[in-house]
Amino acid sequence: MTLRKKIILFSSVFMFLVIVISHTAIYFLFYRTASSGEIDQLSVQADALVEGLARSNSISEEARSDLLSAYLPANGMIRIIDETGADIIPIQTKSQQYQNLEKNYTASETSRIVQDNDTGSNFAIIEKPVIWENGDIVTVQVANELVYLDETMETLTYVLFFSSAVILIPTIIASIALSRFLLTPIQKLKDTMRRNIHNKNWQKIDVESRFKGENWQKSNVEKRSKDEIYEMEITFNEMIDSLKENFEKQEAFVSNASHELKTPIQIIKSYAQLIERQGKKRPELLDESVGAIDSEADRMQNLVEQLLLLAKHKSENKKQGVNIQEVVEQVIQTFQKAYPERRIQFDIEEGNYETFGNIDQLKQIPYILIENALKYSEGDVLVSMYSDVKKSFIRFKDFGEGIASEDQEKIFDRFYRVDRARNRETGGTGLGLAIAKEIIEAHGGEITVESEVGQGSTFIWQIQKNISNK
Ligand code: ADP
Repeated sequence: MTLRKKIILFSSVFMFLVIVISHTAIYFLFYRTASSGEIDQLSVQADALVEGLARSNSISEEARSDLLSAYLPANGMIRIIDETGADIIPIQTKSQQYQNLEKNYTASETSRIVQDNDTGSNFAIIEKPVIWENGDIVTVQVANELVYLDETMETLTYVLFFSSAVILIPTIIASIALSRFLLTPIQKLKDTMRRNIHNKNWQKIDVESRFKGENWQKSNVEKRSKDEIYEMEITFNEMIDSLKENFEKQEAFVSNASHELKTPIQIIKSYAQLIERQGKKRPELLDESVGAIDSEADRMQNLVEQLLLLAKHKSENKKQGVNIQEVVEQVIQTFQKAYPERRIQFDIEEGNYETFGNIDQLKQIPYILIENALKYSEGDVLVSMYSDVKKSFIRFKDFGEGIASEDQEKIFDRFYRVDRARNRETGGTGLGLAIAKEIIEAHGGEITVESEVGQGSTFIWQIQKNISNK
């Protein structure tokens, strides 16, 4: 069943039940009130009759009959019966229907409403004990057909049926309108999603026009209210933007990665062909070719390792308390051994450098930044650390070629290298800073660069102290 049908069905059935319950209650409440009014009225008449009878002791049969007919209700009956149920005087009525009425001798006053099974008519009956002229206690039975009540109840039934329809029809119309109001944007969303799946064109929803495609002019549509549906459409559009951006990034990444791998493969291949063609005749080519093949293979290895690192750090989640000072010192020592001719100076202000994170990933940061500082400068490298209440700051300063301001943002993009030709010589892949940035951001930190061409560069890594984002 469609959502539209469910909304219409649910609201109509619910309203129908509410109407049935409330109208039934109204019907019975009215019936009770009206019938008890009728009984009260009949009771007053019966009292008057009893009083009249008391005042007219020892009158003639005929005079008594006249008296009774004077008290006879319009559609009613008066009967006086003794203990055995026999009529003391003939039944007074203009209608034959009272002949079968049950004779009820009673010692106390009773009142009730009974229904005639054959005609369906209702009667109010009052029975009162009275002392008859011979001293016996007899029962005066006064009954009246509730003609007006029956008519009123019938009219009430029609009125209630009519009002039920009057309430139910607008309810159904309102539920159709509501379902349309709610479902049109959902339908639009569904269609847009479908089109995106089939055409892969990152289509978004036109949020300004709600009933687009149904003869609604955009100019006629008032500015939309900022309701939940509007929010949903905006969120959908944002999701499409973000998916598109990620997809394009992935595409660029794959194409960059394959391009980066293609160059060393081509070089290796062309040297292999050179050896094949001329290797035997010119053995001096062998050394040069093997050297080139070896260095290109190193490049590829380096690139593949960095690509793996990029993929890996996202899936790794092993975090612990880490002392950044120890991490930085260890990395400096490693580089100092590998580059004994270069000086890596380390300054640290006293303080707490504890943080929370993945130690293997955090080690990558000083590794990448010190390697770059050594790679892109010839002089000393300065590493300094200080901290405030919340954060630790680690600065990596070199006095090398520097980075132009227009490149400073881009160097954190994957595969971006300022001077491709020169960087080939340094063996760069353009992935180091991108990896560093991703790791730092995954740990809630930040990396910035300050640099001037020809003066050198300073990379500043900020990291939160004691982060507990497990
Ligand atoms: P690469 O493997 O090329 O070093 P990175 O992502 O680490 O890749 O760096 C991106 C680019 O930023 C480098 O190619 C280089 O041009 C520039 N760069 C990075 N660090 C420095 C630095 N300390 N001094 C000058 N340029 C730098």
